[in-house]
Amino acid sequence: MSEEQRWSICPVEDCEFAQEFDPDAPAFCPDCGMELISQCPSCKGPVRLENQVNCNECGLPFKE
Ligand SMILES: [Zn+2]
Ligand SMILES: [Zn+2]
Repeated sequence: MSEEQRWSICPVEDCEFAQEFDPDAPAFCPDCGMELISQCPSCKGPVRLENQVNCNECGLPFKE
């Protein structure tokens, strides 16, 4: 089994930018300047997929 992977994703619906979560990496999308999401703003559940659109824990949409 692989390690639990985490991603940072851009919250903009039309933007597909994603990077593997790295606490030292820039926290903003290089394409649109939005702050990247690496955990659910509501329940703090981690982002597990580079193309994840909803929180696995509470279902909150990540894309707006
Ligand atoms: Zn973006
Ligand atoms: Zn959540």
